[in-house]
Amino acid sequence: MGFGDFLANRMKKSLEKKVAKSNLTEENIKDTLREIRLALLEADVNIDVVKQLVANIEKKAVGTGISDGVRADQQFIKIVHEELTEILGKTKKELNLGSRPSIIMMVGLQGAGKTTTCGKLSHLINKKNKKKVLMVGLDIYRPGAIDQLVELGQKNNIDVFEKGKQDPVITAKEAVDYAEANDYDVVILDTAGRLQINNELMDELNNIRKNVSPQEIILTVDGMTGQDIINVTTEFNNLLKLTGVIVTKLDGDTRGGATLSISFMTKLPIKFIGEGEGISALSEFYPKRMADRILG
Ligand code: GDP
Repeated sequence: MGFGDFLANRMKKSLEKKVAKSNLTEENIKDTLREIRLALLEADVNIDVVKQLVANIEKKAVGTGISDGVRADQQFIKIVHEELTEILGKTKKELNLGSRPSIIMMVGLQGAGKTTTCGKLSHLINKKNKKKVLMVGLDIYRPGAIDQLVELGQKNNIDVFEKGKQDPVITAKEAVDYAEANDYDVVILDTAGRLQINNELMDELNNIRKNVSPQEIILTVDGMTGQDIINVTTEFNNLLKLTGVIVTKLDGDTRGGATLSISFMTKLPIKFIGEGEGISALSEFYPKRMADRILG
């Protein structure tokens, strides 16, 4: 269901009756704001975010009059949609693939889907941008993580650089040198995850970052994690200065409220969303489409 359907089903009636012929006032948009609050909570948007958002929408809407023949209820719908789209980043944000080789460092907690997403992203960059991609296995702690990356590479014709359990800081630099010498366009580093953020992990990630200066440092987060997602994103961002986020596990009928929580609280650009386990299940992030989806 898109935004229009949602309005038709849940909002439109109360809105039409009350405000179609008048200005928007606190009183006549009250019921409709309640509907929006419910829709956002159902979409798993963080409660604090919902409160602030609804307050913002109210502030913008109240006092808006009929202008240029546009009815007040239509004005209101426009305001809600604009507000969500704005928070979600307004427009699609491209990956920075400027220099050659460009280096994308992927970070995230264990289980978020980081290794799978490395495969998907490499596949996408390879297909869409016609670039030669090298994946680098640096997750030496999660059993099987490097094998998983190698397998993803073999299945999808993407080269993988790995040095087993060698210090990831050294391996990362060797991989970049190798990529330069062998004409790769893009290097994607699959760094180690942990169950929780700890100093050891962050030190290692920071050392990798300093050693190879990535253009992109992208956090993969599990879109089904719920409320903790904001804390995780904020901590990673404080320590590593992220350039973007990929939200995974937004398959099919999940509403994607996590994207709104992250955007609102961290202001980081969401660059892609994962929508399944398969290699092609990674989509570019369009704020307008996500606004539709969240309002369901
Ligand atoms: P890592 O520890 O962060 O490297 O996590 P993995 O890449 O091994 O992924 C953990 C699990 O999440 C695997 O079973 C993946 O198939 C699954 N996964 C990753 N992304 C998605 C997604 O977008 N949708 C679904 N349904 N599963 C995903």
